[in-house]
Amino acid sequence: MKKMIVTVMLGVLWGINGPKIYISADMEGVVGAVTGAQLGPSGFEYERFRKFMTAEVNAAIEGARSAGAGEILVADSHGNGQNLLIDKLPKDVQIVRSWPRPLGMVGGLDKRFDGAIFLGYHSSTDNLEGVRAHTFSSARLTSVKLNGTAVSEGVWNAAIAGEMGIPVIMVSGDDATVAEVSSLVGNVEGAVVKYALSFHSAKTLHPEAAFDLIRDKAEQAVKNIKRYKPYRVKSPVTVTMSFKHYRPVELLGYLSMFERIDSHSIRYGAKTMEEASRIRTFILSYEGGNSVP
Ligand SMILES: [Zn+2]
Repeated sequence: MKKMIVTVMLGVLWGINGPKIYISADMEGVVGAVTGAQLGPSGFEYERFRKFMTAEVNAAIEGARSAGAGEILVADSHGNGQNLLIDKLPKDVQIVRSWPRPLGMVGGLDKRFDGAIFLGYHSSTDNLEGVRAHTFSSARLTSVKLNGTAVSEGVWNAAIAGEMGIPVIMVSGDDATVAEVSSLVGNVEGAVVKYALSFHSAKTLHPEAAFDLIRDKAEQAVKNIKRYKPYRVKSPVTVTMSFKHYRPVELLGYLSMFERIDSHSIRYGAKTMEEASRIRTFILSYEGGNSVP
């Protein structure tokens, strides 16, 4: 009985004082996901993979909690932003859903958090390797650069967190994703749940093995949270975006804040990553008229 009281008290203390963890969950990097068949409501395996995505988030939460994590906020950051089965998450976490969000895939992140975990992430549109490699929009963008360096969503989001003084402590996805984030962001725990063979093929772990790996890595990451450094990019930041189609580039070029640097690319400056993110979100989300579904 005494032991139970102590455990509960520790739990309460951790809840208040333990590291606050932010989880951004994407889906392309979820174990076994290789094509659109798993990634959207029209895919024949989508319902099954929503469960896997949710199980990966739960595994990370369990790992983080066993290392003493306190508050946890989870952002559903894939597709329509409504993939996670929210009633299957622990009742003491909160969830960010749907779009648009000024901070995109890290919507809801603020300075109170101590570490960020990126789950189910994928490599960038500039990367020759990786399952479903793209940056923000596979249909619309061919490259995104921060201060001249091509970045993935993971690196972009790490820079937003870094500006708030928050380190990325763990990333999961295929081998290309983990390598790409680590090469720019530096020391993070990486959970490789599959190995890319091509854009639409991978050698994948078994789901249960992936959940175990994610649980372990999240536990390590939170246990060693002081070892990870925020990823800071030099500000003001310069963002270069290349599009598949000339049209958005032509129209953005009408505005003096954007420089059209070639037929398919624009460049803009922003004082901070937060501002860079707001502008990026506007560019990719704005539609004239009422586009609310
Ligand atoms: Zn996605």
